[in-house]
Amino acid sequence: MARVLVTGGSGYIAGFAIRQLVEAGWEVNTTIRSLAREAEVREWLGVDNARLRFFAADLTSDPGWADAMEGCSHVAHIASPIPPGAPRHEDELIVPAREGALRALRFAKGAGVNRFVMTSSVAAIAYGHSKDRTEFSEADWSNLDDPRTYAYPKSKTIAERAARQWVAAKGGGIEFVTVNPAAVLGPVLGRDFSPSIEAVKKLLEGAMPGVPDLGFGIVDVRDVADLHVRCLTADHVAGERFIASGPFLKLIDIAHILRERLGPEARKVPTRRMPDFLVRIVGRFIPELGQVASELGRVKISSSVHAKDRLGWEPRPVEETIVETARSLIERGIVKVS
Ligand code: NAP
Repeated sequence: MARVLVTGGSGYIAGFAIRQLVEAGWEVNTTIRSLAREAEVREWLGVDNARLRFFAADLTSDPGWADAMEGCSHVAHIASPIPPGAPRHEDELIVPAREGALRALRFAKGAGVNRFVMTSSVAAIAYGHSKDRTEFSEADWSNLDDPRTYAYPKSKTIAERAARQWVAAKGGGIEFVTVNPAAVLGPVLGRDFSPSIEAVKKLLEGAMPGVPDLGFGIVDVRDVADLHVRCLTADHVAGERFIASGPFLKLIDIAHILRERLGPEARKVPTRRMPDFLVRIVGRFIPELGQVASELGRVKISSSVHAKDRLGWEPRPVEETIVETARSLIERGIVKVS
């Protein structure tokens, strides 16, 4: 079986991608920022260690990338910064996202990589559009000129566009594909998980007096990893984008699922909506809420029909994802429910 580089092996999606690739028989290289974390990451991945090699590399500098790419025919470029809150300056996200993608592509070309799958996002598709737009597909791009497009969607849009332009101009034989996931939930592997899990964590902790009128397309981390594997191996997908999303749910729907399916463990989950004006006021003091205030009341359905039709991808039921997210947070002691 071929050798694949998965960038950002300490990350949530990358962890599940590495597991599935090793299980499918691949030899896997992965990058982390510092090898000091190798033992910890190996422990939570729990895969055959002989099939997995670690390399130190940062998105913002060259050292380590040539070694990490050596012998690889495929790359899953998953690493990119997701902030827990709003960054002080948007360039904290945009620069590593864009430069990291271009750096990974440049070293991939140098190593003779054939297929390069980049993790983009629906954040590169569904932001900065008029309020009456509710349905999105791979044909759409987020509008960078709209002031409501905040730092994270900007970083994903700029990085994906830059990568596509680079491939068109200098990519040679590289087959470039993106996976564009919606909000990723599912069981966590360790205490270091993606900020996308925060919404479920905050609901379980009863950290908010009410539930803001915010919603997301939701997709399971295991299904996102599976779509990466399909994109690494499918024929004739060069240049394509594949949205990975299950249904669009409001936070209030997630709260009700938690209450119904977890029983007493969900006793702190609020089930009343927080009025929009209150969210806006609170958002002045909590930047991560403030930056998404323009999303209040919005419905954004990003269809995965392309991934289903073209790659036979089938996401699991969303209730299962939500319940397993919550159970893993409780079982690992990350959320205390009593
Ligand atoms: P995550 O757990 O935070 O993983 C992000 C990874 O990127 C981590 O391994 C992180 O390394 C690495 N990284 C960040 N800055 C870096 C830098 N300067 N140099 C090297 N590595 C760096 O988040 P995730 O959810 O798995 O996200 C993975 C990818 O999926 C990202 O491209 C993200 O934009 C995309 N995505 C995520 C979601 C979602 O809802 N989670 C939705 C759509 C798309 P450290 O561990 O050292 O910080």
